[in-house]
Order: sequence, then structure tokens, then C-alpha cells
Amino acid sequence: MIIGFVAEKWEWEYRVALVPQTVHLLTKMGHEVYFEKNAGIKAGFSDEDYIKNGAKLFTDATNVYKKSEIIVKINAPVEQEYKYLHKDLWIIANFSNMSKDEQLSIIKKYKVKIVALDQLPRLSRVQDIDILSSQNNLAGYKAALIAMNMQNKSVPLMMTSAGTVPALKALVLGVGVAGLQAIATLQRMGAIVYASDVRAETAEQVMSLGAKFIISSNDNIFNILKNIDILITSAYSSNGYTPQLITLKMLKQMPLGSIIIDMANGNVEGGLENSVKILDNVKILSSVHLAADVAYSASGLFSRNIYNLLSRWDELLKDDEVWSKILIQDNKGI
Ligand code: NAD
Repeated sequence: MIIGFVAEKWEWEYRVALVPQTVHLLTKMGHEVYFEKNAGIKAGFSDEDYIKNGAKLFTDATNVYKKSEIIVKINAPVEQEYKYLHKDLWIIANFSNMSKDEQLSIIKKYKVKIVALDQLPRLSRVQDIDILSSQNNLAGYKAALIAMNMQNKSVPLMMTSAGTVPALKALVLGVGVAGLQAIATLQRMGAIVYASDVRAETAEQVMSLGAKFIISSNDNIFNILKNIDILITSAYSSNGYTPQLITLKMLKQMPLGSIIIDMANGNVEGGLENSVKILDNVKILSSVHLAADVAYSASGLFSRNIYNLLSRWDELLKDDEVWSKILIQDNKGI
């Protein structure tokens, strides 16, 4: 097959769908890989690296799209890319930025085939192609780093000749993929970490990282907030909604200068999508692009997810539980 990748169009997007190491593996499998000039530059991969690993460079996206049978992308194509779409082109990407109606409309209009990796069921047999796990893990790490960086307190306990600096206290709400990595990162830096989740089974995972589990209840969270310097929220329900966990009243409990990273964009009342806001002297950062800010590593994992998908393609075609979810079709099966 001819597999193409291009520069992502969103200005905040630093990642690239394939990295040179994966290009090498794909060409060894017998595929040809075409790419747009500078496609990986923002993630830290030069054109020379791609060429050395067997990819063919095109100066613009037009030819990459035109000649490719499969286009792999981090995010679904944006409107300015629609002109490149052609019959029977496979597009493999995270389509969460495009509505289902729009997906069906481009399938109908351009006769493309969409594999929406964000729809992959979380099953252990397809974990190696799960882009949400690979990207959200790094996003959790980045959220912890940003919060520690924004704090004006030192994170670990420090014993100095001038006196002792106490360790900072952090709370993580929602102990899924992102939350677990946030806990691990804060722990490694020496913070005292508390965490809570509605799933009781997460208590063991929290404790195995050395953090303290708090039973999920409004009162428990309310009471602990007065000691919390960093709050990271990553609670997302399996029914597809974002619960509001922190009200303005709860927020007032927090010490002056506390930092909140609302990863799920909605766990905290008054947060604002993709911005920093100061409410009652607490800084709230609601960011939707955390994985893009670890672009080199995130691209490496995304690219590996794509390689695993392509190398297991025939097997996945027969796996209806997976394929029926990621191959986008309308009810009539277009
Ligand atoms: P996940 O499904 O692995 O984890 C979500 C966790 O939230 C689960 O453990 C679930 O039990 C828990 N939860 C649900 N309702 C809760 C409640 N009321 N109280 C406490 N916990 C509750 O999801 P994930 O991959 O860790 O992602 C978490 C969220 O972070 C998602 O909304 C995701 O879109 C977002 N996210 C944002 C960025 C970003 O850049 N801002 C990056 C990655 C993920």
C-alpha cells in the first residue's frame, strides 16, 4: 500500500502521525511511505530523517493525498484539506474533532473510508493500537509538569540549613489513564498525592503508586481541598459525559495561589476551554492540547499505534467488535 502523512493543520498541533523509526518498519513490510515537506519538523523529526528511513518527500500535501491509498493523521482533516480527498482513500486518524454528521457527509461526498481511532473499544487485545491510552498517558504527565511549574511552592520536602520546606500536596480526581500518570509524575517529584475515583477498584492502583486514596464523596473532597496546592481533574464517565466535581464554593476552600488543571474541560465550575482563568485566587488551566505539548514522545507512541494497526489489519477486519466501531458507516452501510 502507499501510505501518506502530512503536516497537521491546527496551529497548536505539534505532533505528526508517523516518525522515521516507524517509516522504516512500514517500508520493511513492503509499503511505500510518502510525506509532505516539514511534516514532522514541529515534533522534532527532520525531512532527512524520514528520507533516510525510506520515505519519499513531496513539497506539498496535494501530491501526498493524490498518490496515497491510506492517509494517516493525528487529527481528522480540516475543511481546507477536503479538496484533496478522493475515492477509496482510507483516512486513519482521531476523528473526535469532527462531528459524526460531518464524517458521514465526507464519506458520501468524496467516497473516502474513515477509520476513527478515537472510537476504538478499550479491550486488552487492541491496547497496542489505542491512541487515547497512549496520548492521554502523556497528557497526564504533562498536566502534572505544568501544574508543578505554575506553582510558586517547591514540590518536594527540603531540609535546608535555613529550615524545612514542606512537600506540596496534590489531589487527582479521576484515576483513569491520564490521572494515573499524573499521580505517578507528582509522586516522583516528591509531592504528597491524594486521589479519588468513583471506581473503587482504582484504590489499589493509587496506593501501589504510593499515593493516598480518598473515597469519592463531595464532603471528602470539600474537606481536603483546603490543604491542596495542585488539583488535576481528569474525570470522564464511561457513558460519555464530563461530571462537574468542583463547584465555585469548593474552589474557595483552596489555599491562595493553588493551581487547577481541568484536563476533562468541565470537571471544574467556571473553567474555560483552553485558557487560563483566575477565580478566587486559584489559577485554573483548562487545556485540550496537552499531548501536543509533548509532541516528540506523543508522536512516537501514536506512530507505533498506527504501525500496530497496519500490521494487524487483516486480523482486525475479521474482528467485528472492533472493526464495526472504528470503521465509520451510516446505518445503511455506505
Ligand atoms: P479514562 O476513561 O481512562 O479515565 C476517566 C476516569 O474518570 C475513570 O477512571 C472514571 O472512573 C473516572 N470518573 C468518572 N466519573 C467520575 C466522578 N464523578 N468522580 C471521579 N472520577 C470519575 O479517561 P482518560 O483517558 O484518563 O481521560 C480523562 C479525561 O481527560 C477525558 O475527558 C479526556 O478527554 C481528557 N484528556 C484531556 C487532555 C487534554 O489535553 N486536555 C488530554 C488527554 C485526556
